[in-house]
Amino acid sequence: MDSSISKPESIAAQALGWVDERTRATTPAIHVSTTFLRDEDNQYRSGRVYARADNPAFDQAQAVIAQLENGVDAALFASGMAAATAVFQALAPGDHVLAPRVMYWSLRNWLMNFATQWGLEVELVDMTDPAAVQAAIRPGTTRLVWIETPANPLWTITDIAATAAIARAAGALVAVDSTVATPVFTRPLDLGADIVMHAATKYLNGHSDLLAGVLVTRNNNDFWQRVKAIRAQLGATLGSFEAWLLLRGMRTLYLRVRAASASAQQIAAHFAVHPLVRAVLYPGLPNAQGHAVAARQMRGGYGGMLSICVAGGEAAAIATAARVALWKRATSLGGTESLIEHRSSVEGAGSPAPSDLLRLSVGIEDVGDLIADLEQALLKAHG
Ligand SMILES: *Cc1c(COP(=O)(O)O)cnc(C)c1O
Repeated sequence: MDSSISKPESIAAQALGWVDERTRATTPAIHVSTTFLRDEDNQYRSGRVYARADNPAFDQAQAVIAQLENGVDAALFASGMAAATAVFQALAPGDHVLAPRVMYWSLRNWLMNFATQWGLEVELVDMTDPAAVQAAIRPGTTRLVWIETPANPLWTITDIAATAAIARAAGALVAVDSTVATPVFTRPLDLGADIVMHAATKYLNGHSDLLAGVLVTRNNNDFWQRVKAIRAQLGATLGSFEAWLLLRGMRTLYLRVRAASASAQQIAAHFAVHPLVRAVLYPGLPNAQGHAVAARQMRGGYGGMLSICVAGGEAAAIATAARVALWKRATSLGGTESLIEHRSSVEGAGSPAPSDLLRLSVGIEDVGDLIADLEQALLKAHG
């Protein structure tokens, strides 16, 4: 690596500054081969055999993400869910894991309905309270503590350093779903986590045009080798074109995420004092749950995700989402376009989302237009 490329903004912008040795191209080719030539003496000195296990199309994107997260290795997966579930699949039946009550809904569903059938003992705790984690953890039996911060869809904050210290003392690994914070604002490995997970579908790619997931590790240990073997054998492998697009998307990561976060802060402040809004959930507001921890743990912003609880309940919330023009009514997050979603109707029974909650993924449009559009939708919805 060129030693002048040390700041994360520069690493992202130049994708580590790699140049193709053969062609002098400054952006990589898209490698699509599924198979690699064996040496005459029957060896595979290139280290590559078959694309389900490994693919040169992953190298640069994995190196960029590993560097941005200050890890020693990264592994791309076909989706965020494929990355997250690989961590749990690397555990053994009978292992005890702690997961948050408030977390990404599909992963919580999989943990409760499939991971448990497979023999993992999954216990949901209030991960925002280190005392609750301390009370639930079983030294020697708890193998993994899963954190998501800020957590979908209430944007509650978990203290990574405090929780990781509790986990380490009990002999458990710590994995952090850092999809919403991104390496722009938080580096969980520096705070004591063992593994960072991203739905790269979201901010890392940033353009709502591919599915991808990634894990980054602090240590290249046996657990990490098991995780990589699961990727190679179960086949939740990213496509070459998606890896190439992801690398392109990450070049603008810092610009996009900072812009979205600055706008989210303005939108949160504006609607926090709005008569048609019951509550705004955003860690950047001074009275938000976890604001003091977030101020320490997130450097330079609180992210582009917030939720508003609309005065008048569920019907008023759905009517508000129906009347936006610039915001797009759609699920997902982290793209350049702003999205709005009535979350409890997506999550269904057992969701921690109140029925009047609208989840907002703030994009990079003009923030005045975003505020004005939401404002007119609230007014129309309240007749
Ligand atoms: C979207 C998302 C996931 C899952 O990622 P996919 O790429 O959709 O599988 C996991 N965690 C969080 C926080 C997410 O937003």
